[in-house]
Amino acid sequence: MGVTRPSLVGMSNTEPHPTAAVSGGEAEVAAGPVHELLYGRDVVLGGTRGMPVIRTLPNKERRMVGAWCFVDAYRGDTAMRVPPHPHTGLQTVTWLVEGEVRHRDSLANDQLIRPGQLNLMTAGRGIAHAEESPAPLTGALAGVQLWVALPDADRETEPAFAHHADLPGGTADGVRTRVLMGRLDGVTSPARAYTPIVGAELELAAGGRRSLDLEPDFEHAVLVLSGQCTVDGEVVEPGPLLYLGTGRRSLEVSADAPARLLLLGGEPFAERIVMWWNFIGRGHEEVAAARADWMAGRRFGEVTGFDGPALPAPELPNTTLLPRGRLRSS
Ligand code: MN
Repeated sequence: MGVTRPSLVGMSNTEPHPTAAVSGGEAEVAAGPVHELLYGRDVVLGGTRGMPVIRTLPNKERRMVGAWCFVDAYRGDTAMRVPPHPHTGLQTVTWLVEGEVRHRDSLANDQLIRPGQLNLMTAGRGIAHAEESPAPLTGALAGVQLWVALPDADRETEPAFAHHADLPGGTADGVRTRVLMGRLDGVTSPARAYTPIVGAELELAAGGRRSLDLEPDFEHAVLVLSGQCTVDGEVVEPGPLLYLGTGRRSLEVSADAPARLLLLGGEPFAERIVMWWNFIGRGHEEVAAARADWMAGRRFGEVTGFDGPALPAPELPNTTLLPRGRLRSS
């Protein structure tokens, strides 16, 4: 008898009844180059008047791209207001295209982030943070929030936060590159990563066209942030995540009009993880303990300066959260 994998519905830090996502394991990784357009689902952050986002990872088709395990994209004139909430076992990557977001965390960091800058929060054993638009909201807010799963050896690390205002990159053939995480084009991001990974924004001028060198052992995906891009012959617009599989040494990107995309990739994440609410663990007991600690005011510290109460954790599902082994042996 095999273990039944819980159905994947995904989770949000503000969903009232999040279900578990079991992610990772090499059995899920495409063995070579593929083209899969993964459509996300609409989620509202921060309650019924909250901010609409499109969540393309985890997806019922693909759960991870390397250690990237969560992709939320937003664009609109709705203010962000996510009250204090905890995280474990992951890094959050905040990247904006338009507008500003204010981050506060339980390590007493208070950081405004603007387009072109990276906020990287390493939850490790536990951290809490709040994110909101500075009042009053002027103009549009557009960007992404991504999560990177921490490997077992590092997931209990001390929590940390880093703001990288100037990321390395370059411009060639009408394409400006900024490397958020890992390495691309011989340029390495200063942001600390715990697994072999790449995250880069490409800003394409009208007529921009490039062939990017990729790490063939990585799996890759592209999310278009604005405009329309042609990626390996496929026309892609904002919305879906284009999953590209493994085994690629290069990738052609071009645009007829100004456009922007995010390239995500990494070594396939061999460990199986359990994602529930804002926690990543390896099993039910761990996630249940994190939930209990948050509700009891333990472990995560306090976020000061946010005008409003912290988010209570939802109830755990009645089923036991189980990670699957990396091999399909049963
Ligand atoms: Mn968060």
